[in-house]
Amino acid sequence: MGCKTAAYFPAIVCYTASMTNASTDREKMLTALILDWYRREGRRLPFRGTKDPYLIWVSEIMLQQTRTETVGAYYLRFIDRFPTVQALAGAEEQEVLKLWEGLGYYSRARNLHRAAELVVAEYGGRLPASAEALQRLPGIGPYTAAAIASIAFDQPVPAMDGNLQRVLSRLYLVEEDIGIPSVKRRLYQLGQGLMPRQGAGDVNQALMDIGATICLPGTPDCGRCPLQRHCKAYHQGEPELLPRMQKKKPPREVPVAVLLLTHQGRVLVQQRQQALLRGLYTYVLLEDVEGQQEAQMHLRCWGLPHATLRELATARHVFTHRVWQMTLYHAELTEAETGQAMLPHGQWVTAEQMHTLPFPTAMRVAVQWADTLLEKAPAPAQMPRGADADSAL
Ligand code: SF4
Repeated sequence: MGCKTAAYFPAIVCYTASMTNASTDREKMLTALILDWYRREGRRLPFRGTKDPYLIWVSEIMLQQTRTETVGAYYLRFIDRFPTVQALAGAEEQEVLKLWEGLGYYSRARNLHRAAELVVAEYGGRLPASAEALQRLPGIGPYTAAAIASIAFDQPVPAMDGNLQRVLSRLYLVEEDIGIPSVKRRLYQLGQGLMPRQGAGDVNQALMDIGATICLPGTPDCGRCPLQRHCKAYHQGEPELLPRMQKKKPPREVPVAVLLLTHQGRVLVQQRQQALLRGLYTYVLLEDVEGQQEAQMHLRCWGLPHATLRELATARHVFTHRVWQMTLYHAELTEAETGQAMLPHGQWVTAEQMHTLPFPTAMRVAVQWADTLLEKAPAPAQMPRGADADSAL
Protein backbone atom coordinates (compact mmCIF):
# COMPACT_ATOMS: atom_id res chain seq x y z
CA MET A 1 0.00 0.00 0.00
CA GLY A 2 1.12 3.49 -0.71
CA CYS A 3 1.76 5.23 2.62
CA LYS A 4 5.05 6.76 1.68
CA THR A 5 5.98 10.32 2.43
CA ALA A 6 8.83 10.62 -0.07
CA ALA A 7 8.30 13.36 -2.66
CA TYR A 8 4.95 14.07 -1.11
CA PHE A 9 5.32 17.76 -0.33
CA PRO A 10 5.31 19.54 -3.66
CA ALA A 11 6.99 22.85 -4.31
CA ILE A 12 5.07 25.88 -3.14
CA VAL A 13 5.20 27.56 -6.54
CA CYS A 14 2.69 25.05 -7.91
CA TYR A 15 0.06 26.46 -5.60
CA THR A 16 0.74 30.17 -5.64
CA ALA A 17 0.28 30.24 -9.39
CA SER A 18 -3.14 28.64 -9.33
CA MET A 19 -5.41 29.96 -6.62
CA THR A 20 -9.16 30.03 -7.11
CA ASN A 21 -10.36 33.16 -8.91
CA ALA A 22 -12.12 34.55 -5.86
CA SER A 23 -8.96 34.67 -3.71
CA THR A 24 -7.49 38.07 -2.89
CA ASP A 25 -3.77 38.86 -2.88
CA ARG A 26 -3.78 38.65 0.91
CA GLU A 27 -5.35 35.19 0.80
CA LYS A 28 -2.85 34.05 -1.82
CA MET A 29 -0.02 35.24 0.38
CA LEU A 30 -1.49 33.45 3.42
CA THR A 31 -1.93 30.25 1.41
CA ALA A 32 1.68 30.43 0.28
CA LEU A 33 2.82 30.85 3.89
CA ILE A 34 0.69 27.94 5.03
CA LEU A 35 1.96 25.62 2.31
CA ASP A 36 5.55 26.62 2.84
CA TRP A 37 5.20 25.86 6.54
CA TYR A 38 3.48 22.54 5.78
CA ARG A 39 6.30 21.46 3.48
CA ARG A 40 8.81 22.10 6.28
CA GLU A 41 6.90 21.40 9.47
CA GLY A 42 3.77 19.34 8.64
CA ARG A 43 3.32 16.20 10.71
CA ARG A 44 4.54 12.97 9.11
CA LEU A 45 1.71 10.58 9.96
CA PRO A 46 1.20 6.95 8.90
CA PHE A 47 -1.89 7.84 6.91
CA ARG A 48 -0.41 10.76 4.99
CA GLY A 49 1.49 10.72 1.73
CA THR A 50 -1.13 8.82 -0.21
CA LYS A 51 -3.68 9.98 -2.79
CA ASP A 52 -5.64 6.73 -2.57
CA PRO A 53 -9.21 7.87 -1.78
CA TYR A 54 -10.05 4.65 0.07
CA LEU A 55 -7.06 4.94 2.42
CA ILE A 56 -7.76 8.63 3.04
CA TRP A 57 -11.39 7.80 3.73
CA VAL A 58 -10.50 5.11 6.29
CA SER A 59 -8.09 7.44 8.10
CA GLU A 60 -10.53 10.35 8.11
CA ILE A 61 -13.28 8.19 9.59
CA MET A 62 -10.90 6.95 12.28
CA LEU A 63 -9.79 10.51 13.01
CA GLN A 64 -13.35 11.60 13.76
CA GLN A 65 -13.52 11.81 17.57
CA THR A 66 -10.17 10.03 18.06
CA ARG A 67 -6.74 11.43 18.79
CA THR A 68 -4.27 11.40 15.90
CA GLU A 69 -1.63 9.51 17.94
CA THR A 70 -4.13 6.75 18.68
CA VAL A 71 -5.27 6.32 15.08
CA GLY A 72 -1.88 5.36 13.53
CA ALA A 73 -1.67 1.76 14.78
CA TYR A 74 -5.38 1.07 14.20
CA TYR A 75 -5.17 2.46 10.69
CA LEU A 76 -2.18 0.30 9.73
CA ARG A 77 -3.80 -2.83 11.14
CA PHE A 78 -7.09 -2.06 9.39
CA ILE A 79 -5.69 -1.42 5.94
CA ASP A 80 -3.40 -4.41 6.26
CA ARG A 81 -6.50 -6.59 6.70
CA PHE A 82 -8.68 -4.55 4.29
CA PRO A 83 -6.32 -2.98 1.74
CA THR A 84 -9.09 -2.13 -0.72
CA VAL A 85 -12.71 -1.07 -0.61
CA GLN A 86 -13.60 -4.44 -2.12
CA ALA A 87 -11.87 -6.28 0.72
CA LEU A 88 -13.79 -4.21 3.29
CA ALA A 89 -17.11 -4.64 1.48
CA GLY A 90 -16.66 -8.41 1.48
CA ALA A 91 -15.93 -8.67 5.23
CA GLU A 92 -18.29 -9.70 8.03
CA GLU A 93 -19.39 -6.76 10.20
CA GLN A 94 -18.19 -8.55 13.32
CA GLU A 95 -14.63 -8.70 11.98
CA VAL A 96 -14.73 -4.99 11.12
CA LEU A 97 -15.93 -4.21 14.65
CA LYS A 98 -13.22 -6.42 16.15
CA LEU A 99 -10.53 -4.44 14.32
CA TRP A 100 -12.19 -1.24 15.53
CA GLU A 101 -12.21 -2.46 19.15
CA GLY A 102 -10.82 0.25 21.43
CA LEU A 103 -11.35 3.14 19.00
CA GLY A 104 -14.88 3.85 20.25
CA TYR A 105 -17.80 5.41 18.35
CA TYR A 106 -18.53 2.11 16.68
CA SER A 107 -21.24 3.50 14.42
CA ARG A 108 -18.26 4.82 12.40
CA ALA A 109 -17.12 1.27 11.68
CA ARG A 110 -20.61 0.08 10.82
CA ASN A 111 -21.18 3.03 8.48
CA LEU A 112 -17.76 2.61 6.87
CA HIS A 113 -18.55 -1.03 6.19
CA ARG A 114 -22.02 -0.23 4.81
CA ALA A 115 -20.60 2.58 2.66
CA ALA A 116 -17.92 0.24 1.29
CA GLU A 117 -20.66 -2.16 0.19
CA LEU A 118 -22.44 0.75 -1.53
CA VAL A 119 -19.27 1.98 -3.24
CA VAL A 120 -18.67 -1.50 -4.65
CA ALA A 121 -22.31 -2.09 -5.61
CA GLU A 122 -23.18 1.34 -7.00
CA TYR A 123 -19.97 3.17 -7.86
CA GLY A 124 -17.96 0.33 -9.39
CA GLY A 125 -15.57 0.33 -6.41
CA ARG A 126 -14.47 3.97 -6.90
CA LEU A 127 -15.26 6.72 -4.43
CA PRO A 128 -17.01 9.73 -5.97
CA ALA A 129 -14.70 12.75 -6.32
CA SER A 130 -16.95 15.61 -5.25
CA ALA A 131 -17.65 16.58 -1.65
CA GLU A 132 -21.40 16.69 -2.41
CA ALA A 133 -21.50 13.12 -3.76
CA LEU A 134 -19.30 11.81 -0.95
CA GLN A 135 -21.81 13.09 1.60
CA ARG A 136 -24.41 10.71 0.23
CA LEU A 137 -22.46 7.80 1.69
CA PRO A 138 -23.19 6.66 5.26
CA GLY A 139 -20.90 8.19 7.87
CA ILE A 140 -19.50 10.93 5.63
CA GLY A 141 -20.45 14.41 6.78
CA PRO A 142 -19.36 17.78 5.38
CA TYR A 143 -15.97 17.75 7.12
CA THR A 144 -14.96 14.23 6.07
CA ALA A 145 -16.27 14.79 2.54
CA ALA A 146 -14.18 17.95 2.20
CA ALA A 147 -11.09 16.23 3.61
CA ILE A 148 -11.36 13.31 1.17
CA ALA A 149 -12.29 15.51 -1.81
CA SER A 150 -9.42 17.93 -1.20
CA ILE A 151 -6.69 15.41 -0.31
CA ALA A 152 -7.54 12.68 -2.82
CA PHE A 153 -9.12 14.68 -5.65
CA ASP A 154 -7.68 18.21 -5.25
CA GLN A 155 -11.11 19.74 -4.83
CA PRO A 156 -10.74 23.29 -3.39
CA VAL A 157 -13.04 22.83 -0.38
CA PRO A 158 -12.11 23.69 3.22
CA ALA A 159 -12.42 20.83 5.72
CA MET A 160 -14.07 22.74 8.55
CA ASP A 161 -13.49 20.96 11.81
CA GLY A 162 -12.82 22.44 15.26
CA ASN A 163 -9.18 23.04 14.39
CA LEU A 164 -9.91 25.03 11.25
CA GLN A 165 -12.68 26.98 12.95
CA ARG A 166 -10.34 27.93 15.76
CA VAL A 167 -7.44 28.97 13.51
CA LEU A 168 -9.68 30.93 11.14
CA SER A 169 -11.65 32.67 13.87
CA ARG A 170 -8.37 33.87 15.38
CA LEU A 171 -6.63 34.67 12.12
CA TYR A 172 -9.57 36.83 10.98
CA LEU A 173 -10.77 37.88 14.46
CA VAL A 174 -14.25 36.42 14.18
CA GLU A 175 -15.68 37.27 17.59
CA GLU A 176 -19.25 36.03 17.23
CA ASP A 177 -20.47 32.64 18.52
CA ILE A 178 -19.26 30.08 15.98
CA GLY A 179 -22.33 27.93 16.69
CA ILE A 180 -24.51 30.48 14.86
CA PRO A 181 -25.17 29.27 11.29
CA SER A 182 -24.32 32.63 9.65
CA VAL A 183 -21.00 32.74 11.53
CA LYS A 184 -20.26 29.16 10.46
CA ARG A 185 -20.96 30.15 6.86
CA ARG A 186 -18.61 33.12 7.19
CA LEU A 187 -15.82 30.92 8.54
CA TYR A 188 -16.40 28.51 5.66
CA GLN A 189 -16.04 31.36 3.17
CA LEU A 190 -12.84 32.49 4.86
CA GLY A 191 -11.53 28.94 4.60
CA GLN A 192 -12.65 28.76 0.99
CA GLY A 193 -10.62 31.87 0.20
CA LEU A 194 -7.45 30.06 1.25
CA MET A 195 -7.99 27.08 -1.04
CA PRO A 196 -5.68 26.87 -4.06
CA ARG A 197 -6.77 25.12 -7.25
CA GLN A 198 -4.15 22.49 -6.61
CA GLY A 199 -3.02 21.39 -3.18
CA ALA A 200 -6.19 22.22 -1.24
CA GLY A 201 -5.65 18.98 0.65
CA ASP A 202 -2.27 20.22 1.85
CA VAL A 203 -3.74 23.55 2.97
CA ASN A 204 -6.43 21.68 4.92
CA GLN A 205 -3.87 19.37 6.49
CA ALA A 206 -1.57 22.28 7.30
CA LEU A 207 -4.39 24.15 9.04
CA MET A 208 -5.31 20.96 10.92
CA ASP A 209 -1.68 20.65 12.04
CA ILE A 210 -1.45 24.30 13.07
CA GLY A 211 -4.70 23.91 15.00
CA ALA A 212 -3.60 20.66 16.65
CA THR A 213 -0.04 21.62 17.58
CA ILE A 214 0.26 25.43 17.69
CA CYS A 215 -3.04 27.27 17.71
CA LEU A 216 -4.29 25.27 20.69
CA PRO A 217 -7.65 25.80 22.39
CA GLY A 218 -6.12 27.02 25.66
CA THR A 219 -3.03 29.08 25.09
CA PRO A 220 -1.88 29.29 21.48
CA ASP A 221 1.86 29.08 20.89
CA CYS A 222 1.89 32.12 18.61
CA GLY A 223 5.68 32.37 18.60
CA ARG A 224 5.84 29.19 16.49
CA CYS A 225 2.97 30.08 14.18
CA PRO A 226 3.59 30.83 10.49
CA LEU A 227 0.54 33.11 10.53
CA GLN A 228 1.57 35.24 13.48
CA ARG A 229 2.38 38.42 11.52
CA HIS A 230 -1.01 38.35 9.86
CA CYS A 231 -3.15 37.09 12.73
CA LYS A 232 -5.68 39.68 13.90
CA ALA A 233 -6.41 37.97 17.23
CA TYR A 234 -2.69 37.84 18.01
CA HIS A 235 -2.32 41.56 17.34
CA GLN A 236 -5.46 42.33 19.30
CA GLY A 237 -3.80 40.57 22.26
CA GLU A 238 -6.25 37.90 23.44
CA PRO A 239 -6.33 35.05 20.93
CA GLU A 240 -7.05 32.53 23.70
CA LEU A 241 -10.55 33.99 24.06
CA LEU A 242 -11.49 32.78 20.58
CA PRO A 243 -13.41 31.02 19.23
CA ARG A 244 -16.52 31.98 21.15
CA MET A 245 -19.14 29.30 21.54
CA GLN A 246 -21.97 28.42 23.88
CA LYS A 247 -21.10 25.88 26.55
CA LYS A 248 -22.45 22.37 25.88
CA LYS A 249 -24.68 20.67 28.41
CA PRO A 250 -22.67 18.20 30.55
CA PRO A 251 -23.34 14.53 29.68
CA ARG A 252 -25.98 12.74 31.74
CA GLU A 253 -24.69 10.42 34.50
CA VAL A 254 -26.28 6.96 34.23
CA PRO A 255 -25.83 4.25 36.87
CA VAL A 256 -25.21 0.86 35.21
CA ALA A 257 -25.03 -2.54 36.88
CA VAL A 258 -22.69 -4.85 34.94
CA LEU A 259 -23.45 -8.47 35.77
CA LEU A 260 -20.73 -11.05 35.24
CA LEU A 261 -22.79 -14.20 35.36
CA THR A 262 -20.60 -17.28 35.15
CA HIS A 263 -21.07 -21.00 35.08
CA GLN A 264 -18.20 -23.48 35.09
CA GLY A 265 -15.66 -21.46 33.15
CA ARG A 266 -18.09 -19.61 30.89
CA VAL A 267 -19.52 -16.13 31.14
CA LEU A 268 -22.74 -14.80 29.72
CA VAL A 269 -22.25 -12.11 27.08
CA GLN A 270 -24.82 -10.28 25.02
CA GLN A 271 -24.65 -8.61 21.63
CA ARG A 272 -26.11 -5.13 21.91
CA GLN A 273 -29.02 -4.16 19.69
CA GLN A 274 -29.36 -0.57 20.99
CA ALA A 275 -28.03 2.34 18.93
CA LEU A 276 -25.24 2.96 21.45
CA LEU A 277 -22.57 0.26 20.86
CA ARG A 278 -24.82 -1.72 18.51
CA GLY A 279 -23.26 -4.97 17.33
CA LEU A 280 -20.66 -5.03 20.12
CA TYR A 281 -20.61 -7.44 23.04
CA THR A 282 -21.06 -6.64 26.70
CA TYR A 283 -21.89 -8.61 29.82
CA VAL A 284 -25.42 -8.30 31.14
CA LEU A 285 -25.99 -4.57 31.48
CA LEU A 286 -28.73 -3.00 33.54
CA GLU A 287 -28.88 0.67 32.66
CA ASP A 288 -30.37 3.12 35.16
CA VAL A 289 -30.02 0.49 37.89
CA GLU A 290 -28.34 1.71 41.06
CA GLY A 291 -27.16 -0.44 43.94
CA GLN A 292 -26.88 -4.16 44.62
CA GLN A 293 -30.44 -4.50 45.89
CA GLU A 294 -31.96 -3.20 42.68
CA ALA A 295 -29.69 -5.39 40.55
CA GLN A 296 -30.57 -8.38 42.70
CA MET A 297 -34.26 -7.71 42.10
CA HIS A 298 -33.70 -8.08 38.38
CA LEU A 299 -32.24 -11.54 38.95
CA ARG A 300 -35.32 -12.43 40.96
CA CYS A 301 -37.55 -11.26 38.11
CA TRP A 302 -35.62 -13.54 35.76
CA GLY A 303 -36.43 -16.50 38.02
CA LEU A 304 -33.09 -16.59 39.84
CA PRO A 305 -34.03 -16.00 43.49
CA HIS A 306 -31.00 -17.86 44.85
CA ALA A 307 -28.25 -16.31 42.70
CA THR A 308 -26.36 -13.86 44.89
CA LEU A 309 -24.49 -10.93 43.43
CA ARG A 310 -21.11 -9.98 44.85
CA GLU A 311 -19.75 -6.50 44.15
CA LEU A 312 -16.36 -6.57 42.38
CA ALA A 313 -15.43 -3.05 41.35
CA THR A 314 -16.63 0.23 39.92
CA ALA A 315 -15.73 1.81 36.58
CA ARG A 316 -16.68 4.88 34.60
CA HIS A 317 -16.94 5.50 30.88
CA VAL A 318 -17.70 8.83 29.22
CA PHE A 319 -19.67 8.89 25.97
CA THR A 320 -20.59 12.08 24.15
CA HIS A 321 -23.99 12.50 25.76
CA ARG A 322 -23.82 10.26 28.81
CA VAL A 323 -21.49 8.88 31.42
CA TRP A 324 -21.84 5.29 32.56
CA GLN A 325 -21.17 4.97 36.30
CA MET A 326 -20.73 1.22 36.40
CA THR A 327 -20.75 -1.18 39.31
CA LEU A 328 -19.52 -4.68 38.46
CA TYR A 329 -21.16 -7.68 40.14
CA HIS A 330 -20.47 -11.38 39.93
CA ALA A 331 -22.69 -14.40 40.47
CA GLU A 332 -21.81 -18.02 39.76
CA LEU A 333 -24.98 -19.72 38.56
CA THR A 334 -25.93 -23.35 38.87
CA GLU A 335 -26.57 -25.32 35.71
CA ALA A 336 -30.31 -25.18 36.32
CA GLU A 337 -30.14 -21.39 36.69
CA THR A 338 -28.44 -20.90 33.34
CA GLY A 339 -31.52 -22.17 31.60
CA GLN A 340 -33.93 -20.44 33.97
CA ALA A 341 -34.35 -17.16 32.22
CA MET A 342 -33.92 -16.20 28.57
CA LEU A 343 -31.88 -13.27 27.29
CA PRO A 344 -32.05 -12.35 23.61
CA HIS A 345 -28.75 -12.23 21.71
CA GLY A 346 -26.91 -13.78 24.65
CA GLN A 347 -24.36 -16.56 24.62
CA TRP A 348 -22.16 -18.37 27.12
CA VAL A 349 -18.51 -18.15 26.14
CA THR A 350 -15.15 -19.26 27.47
CA ALA A 351 -12.37 -16.71 28.02
CA GLU A 352 -10.85 -17.75 24.71
CA GLN A 353 -14.10 -17.27 22.79
CA MET A 354 -14.71 -13.99 24.58
CA HIS A 355 -11.47 -12.56 23.22
CA THR A 356 -12.54 -13.20 19.61
CA LEU A 357 -15.63 -10.99 20.08
CA PRO A 358 -15.63 -7.20 19.74
CA PHE A 359 -16.06 -5.51 23.15
CA PRO A 360 -16.29 -1.72 23.60
CA THR A 361 -13.66 0.14 25.64
CA ALA A 362 -16.39 0.78 28.22
CA MET A 363 -16.10 -2.92 29.15
CA ARG A 364 -12.32 -2.91 29.67
CA VAL A 365 -12.42 -3.30 33.45
CA ALA A 366 -15.22 -5.84 33.20
CA VAL A 367 -13.24 -7.90 30.65
CA GLN A 368 -10.28 -7.99 33.04
CA TRP A 369 -12.57 -9.21 35.81
CA ALA A 370 -14.13 -11.82 33.55
CA ASP A 371 -10.65 -13.12 32.73
CA THR A 372 -9.86 -13.43 36.42
CA LEU A 373 -13.14 -15.16 37.21
CA LEU A 374 -12.95 -17.59 34.32
CA GLU A 375 -9.42 -18.69 35.10
CA LYS A 376 -10.67 -19.95 38.45
CA ALA A 377 -13.03 -22.46 36.88
CA PRO A 378 -12.03 -24.77 34.02
CA ALA A 379 -14.32 -24.68 31.01
CA PRO A 380 -16.56 -27.72 30.55
CA ALA A 381 -16.66 -29.50 27.20
CA GLN A 382 -20.38 -28.84 26.78
CA MET A 383 -22.40 -25.63 26.89
CA PRO A 384 -24.69 -25.39 29.94
CA ARG A 385 -28.10 -26.90 29.43
CA GLY A 386 -30.66 -24.52 27.95
CA ALA A 387 -28.05 -22.02 26.80
CA ASP A 388 -27.33 -21.40 23.16
CA ALA A 389 -26.11 -18.63 20.91
CA ASP A 390 -29.36 -16.71 20.82
CA SER A 391 -31.20 -17.52 23.96
CA ALA A 392 -29.03 -17.95 26.98
CA LEU A 393 -30.31 -16.49 30.23
S1 SF4 B 1 -0.81 33.66 15.66
FE1 SF4 B 1 -1.49 32.56 17.45
S2 SF4 B 1 -3.70 32.86 17.50
FE2 SF4 B 1 -3.01 33.47 15.49
S3 SF4 B 1 -3.33 31.65 14.25
FE3 SF4 B 1 -1.22 31.60 14.98
S4 SF4 B 1 -1.27 30.43 16.88
FE4 SF4 B 1 -3.36 31.00 16.37
